[in-house]
Amino acid sequence: MRHFGKIGNRKSLVSYAISICLFVVMLIATFGWQALAYKPSPASVDLRHIPIGDGRISTKPQTGFLWSCRTQFGGLRRQGAHASGDWIGDNATYNLTTKPTVNGRVYWPGDFDITIKDRSRQIASNRLPQDPTGNFPISPQDDAYAFDRNPNSIRSGTATLNLPANPQLAAPSCVPMGQVGILLNGGYLFNALDANGKDAVAHEIQDSCQGHPENRGTYHYHSITTCLDKRDPGKGHSALLGYALDGFGIYGHRLEGGKGATNSDLDVCHGHIHPVDWDGKQTQIYHYHATWEYPYTIGCYRGTPITVARPPRPERRPEPPSGANNPELRLDDRPNL
Ligand SMILES: [Zn+2]
Ligand SMILES: [Zn+2]
Repeated sequence: MRHFGKIGNRKSLVSYAISICLFVVMLIATFGWQALAYKPSPASVDLRHIPIGDGRISTKPQTGFLWSCRTQFGGLRRQGAHASGDWIGDNATYNLTTKPTVNGRVYWPGDFDITIKDRSRQIASNRLPQDPTGNFPISPQDDAYAFDRNPNSIRSGTATLNLPANPQLAAPSCVPMGQVGILLNGGYLFNALDANGKDAVAHEIQDSCQGHPENRGTYHYHSITTCLDKRDPGKGHSALLGYALDGFGIYGHRLEGGKGATNSDLDVCHGHIHPVDWDGKQTQIYHYHATWEYPYTIGCYRGTPITVARPPRPERRPEPPSGANNPELRLDDRPNL
């Protein structure tokens, strides 16, 4: 009996040890899952302490800067979001996870089509995004109104872009204000700046997909929207999410092997060259990446950008609510935009 008893005790000890091991594995698994749930892509930067990009405008290609064609900003009163809150930290950082967003979840009949013809990638859209937007103009009842009183409505229209289907590298060039690309959900991509030359992602209040309309009703993002990026939950290199106006692709936050992209991984224009899926084939080609840190998408063009006409002004410009201060409404009054 003792003998069997000893064997029984040994068996209990072994199962006890296995249980402890399983418990530890479960803890690790749980911790890992929580980390993934908290951060929507690889933790390339702490989303609670993202350095604010203000002042990082250059006149030449420079890592971590935006080479802006416009160098003079300001001169108009009360530009940009008119107030900021406690998502702006003390050490020139902001907390993306606590920044307010514009209320609402509006679905639009977004129409977006790409065809390749005569070495040209022809993109046709009705200017509406296929991801939901917030309610614009921002309502005085919305808590976002305390910081940003965007008075613009989202408007449809007809837009076509003829991008080079196989873009070639060229001397880097500056990026204009306004549109610098288009995303595959039909949303326009603008550069990282607001009308005052400040970090638009840090200061302006966008909706929960990080977009908002300007005074011609163009719904746009200043960074790669997480609403598009989250549809690519893989672990390797991110999928193509859009095109810059020079025809090169814009991919999501993940580099090869799934590492989160940072400015230090990319060149002065915010991209790099290695084989990626390009029109269904693995192709060694330059491409841009999204990062969580400024300038978020394109620091300068590495190809030759096309020029695009701005859509017409609305026939009747919306009257801003009393005391409203919309930066892009004012921006539009500037010549040569
Ligand atoms: Zn904007
Ligand atoms: Zn890449």
